[in-house]
Amino acid sequence: MTRKSLSNFYSPSFLFRLIGTLLICVSLYAVFGWLTDTPPSLFLPHAPTMKMNTALGVALCGSALLVFNTRVFGIRAELFPALSLIAISTLTLCQYYLNLDLHIDNIFIEDSFSTKLPGRPSEATAVTLLFAGLCITLYSFRICTKALHCDLPILVGLFIPLLGVSSYIYGYESIATFTFIESMSLPTALSLSVFFIGFSLTQRESLLHSYFNNSSLTFRELRRLSFPVIIFPIAVGWIALYFIREQNVAPELGIASMAAICSIVAVIGLLWNSFKESKWQGQFAAEQKAKLLAQTELAFALETSMGAVLLFSSRGDVVAANSGASRIFGWEINEMKDMNLQHFIPPRLRDAHAGHVKSFRQGEKQKQVNDNLLNMVGYHKSGKEIPILVSINKQLIDGEMMFGAVIMDATGISDQLTRFKTQAEKDYLTDIANRHGLDAYIDSLQQERSGQLMSLLVVDIDYFKRVNDTYGHAVGDKLLQSFVVRIKSTLRFHDKLFRLGGEEFLVVSKRTYSDGAITLANRIRTAIASTPFACHDNTLSITCSIGVSDIRVGKDDFTEQLRKADEALYIAKREGRNCVRRCDEQTEIETAL
Ligand code: GH3
Ligand code: MG
Ligand code: MG
Repeated sequence: MTRKSLSNFYSPSFLFRLIGTLLICVSLYAVFGWLTDTPPSLFLPHAPTMKMNTALGVALCGSALLVFNTRVFGIRAELFPALSLIAISTLTLCQYYLNLDLHIDNIFIEDSFSTKLPGRPSEATAVTLLFAGLCITLYSFRICTKALHCDLPILVGLFIPLLGVSSYIYGYESIATFTFIESMSLPTALSLSVFFIGFSLTQRESLLHSYFNNSSLTFRELRRLSFPVIIFPIAVGWIALYFIREQNVAPELGIASMAAICSIVAVIGLLWNSFKESKWQGQFAAEQKAKLLAQTELAFALETSMGAVLLFSSRGDVVAANSGASRIFGWEINEMKDMNLQHFIPPRLRDAHAGHVKSFRQGEKQKQVNDNLLNMVGYHKSGKEIPILVSINKQLIDGEMMFGAVIMDATGISDQLTRFKTQAEKDYLTDIANRHGLDAYIDSLQQERSGQLMSLLVVDIDYFKRVNDTYGHAVGDKLLQSFVVRIKSTLRFHDKLFRLGGEEFLVVSKRTYSDGAITLANRIRTAIASTPFACHDNTLSITCSIGVSDIRVGKDDFTEQLRKADEALYIAKREGRNCVRRCDEQTEIETAL
């Protein structure tokens, strides 16, 4: 037997399986006795012995214990012996009480001690076997649950064989008057008593588990010492008894040799046990030390981590958390233990989060989650939502899949990103939106499918190069700033101004199109041309040209319409400057000055 199969044999159900084996051995011994004409009577030569059909019943009881809680073709294996027991005992009882001649007595060898009841079990035995079959069936289908408290059927079943055993203890002759258990033999009574005790153990498998695990001293010693201290002496005792009975060996020599052999084996067993035990203790101490070290390392790593760390099970229950997590989410470290991850997610996002977790568990999105820093929203104890960056990893620990999340509070980061974005979209000189700002604005317009009419006005300063050439760049810059301020003063709340580059600007005017756009363009053009600009002690009179196009939001292409406005501007330049042109008509609307 290999080491592995040996440890399987000593499983939590070891005791009731051992009792099952014992009962099968007893029934085989009874059959053997009948076949060799020396039926077992257990030191009571004239008392009834275990009959053949009873031996079959006891074997079925034993096999039910052996196979309890296993399945054959999906069916609970113990049901096969249980139903056979019910069948045999019912037939026997029918024969007793209905006087039916079912020939059950003649199945096996006749009972020479009780010609009245040849191979047939006694009434008491038949009733007990029926009870045994019913008990196994009831418990197998979980009809008797712990809640109902279920030892009652077992106790009732145990009552009859115990009565049988006690009748032998208190004098067999006296029970001859009690016909019900008249012919229940002592081996039968003992076997069936032991069966019910063994059967009650099947209902205590989890309790047996606490004794039959490797960290229980009782289990380790039972495993090592059951053979040299219990099984071996019994076996040697039987062998010695056989030789003494057969008079092959003198009783003194037989007993002395048996004692000597058993003592030697027991001493070897005890030495082996203490050697293994000290080795086990050493191994256990080393494992404990390694575990403690790992825990200390983990605690240290958790605490020195910059961010928050949460370790959680596959069910999402927090196993460990550090002070970083406490800082971010506002819960104490101890409060977070066993808390479900859902508590760290805002209520509005919990269903969506549960969906993501489910698909992650089913193997989807694993790569996506493992390779990326997740941009998520966390939930503070106070009910405040916090932007967080999360990195998740998983590992198999002690056979259970565990997850680790490193979390960073992204509040600062997201503020900074917003700042960068605003800066990138703004023109540093005139403080209005630049081309990036225009792109973002176009993106936001794409979301709208309103079909709203708007107009685009591309405004370009005429002969601006000359300003630079005459007064220098500083004056040019100042003029650009003043130019923007003046255009803004002509715009309404809904109108937007962008610097397309150099001295070229774009006005996007909502709710203005067609003639309204031309009016606005002329208002701008007049505002620029009518009053000179004061720049660094210089007074500059400038004009601008404007190209106009219309756009239907969500329907026309913005870039295309912008190009058309640019074309119109080109025409305005070509046709003398300080004027407004429209892309489609290409006709002069107004030329001032
Ligand atoms: P047009 O009437 O045809 O538009 O003539 P223009 O001189 O205005 O146009 P052109 O494209 O020839 O010159 C634009 C000038 O604008 C050239 C460049 O030096 C100047 N410029 C562009 N950006 C800036 C700026 O930020 N500051 C200053 N001071 N000048 C700029
Ligand atoms: Mg110009
Ligand atoms: Mg230009």
